[in-house]
Amino acid sequence: MSQQGYVATPPYSQAQSGMGGYPAGFGSAPSQPLYGHYGGQPQSFPVPPTGVALKVVRPSLVIAVGPPPAPISQALPTSHLAQQPFHSAPPPAMGHPPLGSPCTGPQSHRMPSPQSPPAGQPMGGPPSMGGMGRPYPGPPPPGAGGFQQFGPGAEGQPGYPQQPQGTVVTMCALISRDCPVFLPNAGRQSLTPVLFGTGQFGGQMAGPGMAGPGMAGPGMAGPGMAGPGMAGPFQGGAAQMAGPPQKKLDPDSIPSTTQVIEDDQAKRGGQVYATNVRGQVPPLVTTNFTVQDQGNASPRYMRCTTYSFPCTADLAKQCQVPLATIIKPFATVPKNETPLYVVNHGEAGPIRCNRCKAYMCPYMQFIDGGRRFQCGFCSCVNEVPAFYFQHLDHMGRRVDFYERPELSLGSYEFVATLDYCKNNKSASPPAYIFMIDVSYANVKSGLVRLICEELKTLLDNLPREEGAESSTVKVGFVTYNKILHFYNVKSALAQPQMMVVSDMAEMFVPLLDGFLVNFQESCSVINNLLDQIPDMFADTNESETVFAPVIQAGVEALKAAECSGKLFIFHSSIPTAEAPGKLKNRDDKKLINTEKEKTLFQPQKGLYEQLSKDCVAQGCSVDLFLFPSQYVDMATMGDVSTHTGGTVHKYSNFQVQTLDGEHFLSDLRKDVRKAIGFDAIMRVRTSTGFRATDFFGAVHMNNTTDVEMAAVDCDKAVTVEFKHDDTLSEETGALMQCALLYTTISGQRRLRIHNLSLNCSSQLSELYKSCETDALINFFAKSAYRAMLNQPLKTVREILVNQTAHMLACYRKNCASPSAASQLILPDAMKVFPIYMNSLMKTGPLVGSAELSTDDRAHQRLSVMAMGVEETQLLLYPRLVPLHNMDVASDVLPAPVRCSEERLTDAGMFLLENGHSLFLWLGQACTPELVQSIFNVPSLAHISLPVLDNPQSKKLRSMIEALLDQRPKSMKLLIVRQKDRSEMLFRQHLVEDKGLHGGASYMDFLCYVHREIRNLLT
Ligand SMILES: [Zn+2]
Repeated sequence: MSQQGYVATPPYSQAQSGMGGYPAGFGSAPSQPLYGHYGGQPQSFPVPPTGVALKVVRPSLVIAVGPPPAPISQALPTSHLAQQPFHSAPPPAMGHPPLGSPCTGPQSHRMPSPQSPPAGQPMGGPPSMGGMGRPYPGPPPPGAGGFQQFGPGAEGQPGYPQQPQGTVVTMCALISRDCPVFLPNAGRQSLTPVLFGTGQFGGQMAGPGMAGPGMAGPGMAGPGMAGPGMAGPFQGGAAQMAGPPQKKLDPDSIPSTTQVIEDDQAKRGGQVYATNVRGQVPPLVTTNFTVQDQGNASPRYMRCTTYSFPCTADLAKQCQVPLATIIKPFATVPKNETPLYVVNHGEAGPIRCNRCKAYMCPYMQFIDGGRRFQCGFCSCVNEVPAFYFQHLDHMGRRVDFYERPELSLGSYEFVATLDYCKNNKSASPPAYIFMIDVSYANVKSGLVRLICEELKTLLDNLPREEGAESSTVKVGFVTYNKILHFYNVKSALAQPQMMVVSDMAEMFVPLLDGFLVNFQESCSVINNLLDQIPDMFADTNESETVFAPVIQAGVEALKAAECSGKLFIFHSSIPTAEAPGKLKNRDDKKLINTEKEKTLFQPQKGLYEQLSKDCVAQGCSVDLFLFPSQYVDMATMGDVSTHTGGTVHKYSNFQVQTLDGEHFLSDLRKDVRKAIGFDAIMRVRTSTGFRATDFFGAVHMNNTTDVEMAAVDCDKAVTVEFKHDDTLSEETGALMQCALLYTTISGQRRLRIHNLSLNCSSQLSELYKSCETDALINFFAKSAYRAMLNQPLKTVREILVNQTAHMLACYRKNCASPSAASQLILPDAMKVFPIYMNSLMKTGPLVGSAELSTDDRAHQRLSVMAMGVEETQLLLYPRLVPLHNMDVASDVLPAPVRCSEERLTDAGMFLLENGHSLFLWLGQACTPELVQSIFNVPSLAHISLPVLDNPQSKKLRSMIEALLDQRPKSMKLLIVRQKDRSEMLFRQHLVEDKGLHGGASYMDFLCYVHREIRNLLT
């Protein structure tokens, strides 16, 4: 088994053409290879110098996915995805106050001396080099069931709609090095190449054997699918399939996300993760662990696609692994982790490097007896201000090391001075403005009353500083339909007063005094107003609304009050009233799967673009609660929110009396209460050799470096991509510092600093070993969702596939030990990467199906852009929990199972959750006892989840409550019964199966990727 001394396998040739040509599913007839995310040049694998032994990492996971087909000769597309930064202009300074003269002593909080740091936490993630890693769990014993026989011409696997049926890349054995061979026959067969017919690839879809809707569901592995009489897989291709009947790979034998999650939880769950080691890979986002900050930011704040950057741009280009960090600057930390310390360096402001402006942090090296410090980012040597001077100990460390958060911690805050405030004026506390659409439909449905009732109690829960008696956030109220009504709710008034603005073209705020007030002071006037609003508009006939002027009014009000803030807009219909920002229905299903499909997701330019800029300039975030009963042009209506750090909530066909009401109210409560900073600007500084080049999130960019966010809350994450501009050093590593200047909820200006240090290596094996699949997928989701605004979906999907294959091929070439080409080899840290990539391509935005609502697709696209790693992980691999055998006495959630129909049982009951949807699935043969104990009814005809006093019911409801509590958004529980129509909604989340609206099963995708890898390596 020794792999030592392995010398590179024979030189690899230029990548084969045809790599991108997934049978018209991932894209058809491209004419040029596309690599890199959205627009790099084709890569060949260079021939390693002869005789140079490559460092070998023995992969933990080796799968033989059967004989791959011969390369498909096909051209690749010419188009490249253009990456368009929102905007670019000369970079203004992000508050660079001059380093003033020394001033009075610092008043930092005193830090507790750290307990003896746990002796170097082991490197997380993959096993060390040369280690075998965990073999993929239990292949069935030879001869055991689990492999379906497929006759020649067996059932095809419809992928995306265009995909010709029957691309049965009949797979063979899984080979784990530890249990070399099972199913000897299959193993032998794997040496027989399957030739694919070529004619059908890249052709224009259709034709016999196309994937029909009826094909969806149970999927390929269903026993019923195999056998004679199945549609011929290829048009004219079946005859070319060589060899005897092929074996179907056991679904248990391909990498399992649930297993990876379970293993990491078992290995690292419950542990303390100390951040004292550079380049240390943190536990998975799904693992429960406690973070102890010892010099690097918690992975809750910053998580990277890899913790070992390649030293050179060439290596980075070669492997195509994106170098990115997902930053969630306001991430919620568990109660047992220390909140951030606040450091005050006095009147001169935080100490920074004179040259690169990086803030004082653990990467600054004190020299010259403590009189100077050398910047870890740019190497500039700076004088230490007199007030900050401190002696060094025998290790060369300042003796106050443990007393200063900025010297010993990865994350902390600085008090910002006036230099960091707009116009050198100190900031004011932010304001929340509630803007309610009182058009006919909203009043009649009872929505207006529901909102007003809720606000009466909710306003008592406005966010406040830790320990503060009450909130300093001011509140204001507007109602509107075709015209706007502002309310004076000054505490001195006996009755609220309404002021009407009907000129939508010239929006202004009719009153300054009395519009934005303190809730406690004006409580009785406000409650009076909230009582009156539903009645005031009870007889309205007005069904038209305006929208852009509403946002404009909010910004103007904040401008007049000289504060930042947030607009809560409760709106129902597409704004058709004659006013600026009027929209029309431009939904056109005929555009789907055409070059023009992207236009459905592009917001209307002009006014809305300008509104975003105005909002960002004022620190005005827009949260939109939409209650549409038909198309509303989500792409445009949601645009301002997604450039201002806001959130768009969508409740289609909302009915107050149903669960919809509670669903919306819980979202609103979470939204009003959550931790948030305003008027924020973020800069990511790096050590020399690389820099931040691209940013994805609910942000606005006025230039290439400053990320502006009207607000940033605990759920918003920005994904930052890095590129080399020089060689990185293994010795010094790669350092990054995220500095976020913002206004707190009480109006203080602060700088939140997160520092992170990564390793650098000239060995690609180090990079692959330190990869973080969940972070990678976050990057790919955001970059693909942005790219789809400019490129046809099939091109975007194709790039995702190409890059998957490329990353894995490069690993195989450079890092894996030699093995038969029929084996698919995946890096241990990326073994479930393909399932996530496949799941991503099957998401609504990327799938291109006329059956999905354009607004829903646009909404998901916008939501994902602001997501952190936890959210994208869960979205792309939902949690499917079996409930029928749950132990009601245990606190532990039953172990989730793989997201596939095969895991469902007729007698079972399952909970499925992805952060946006929540389902309770009931098998047809669910036991009456279970049904009775959960629903208290013998029949399941019309069911909702009742509150019952028995252990099963309590357990289930507490599980659901706990889940809802963890998620940024509320979810409405949908109960679906096996074989019901509504089951389709549930099934689309079974991401290992073939997509209901197109897209390959996990198994098929893996085979396809394997074929592409082979093409790349031959
Ligand atoms: Zn510097």
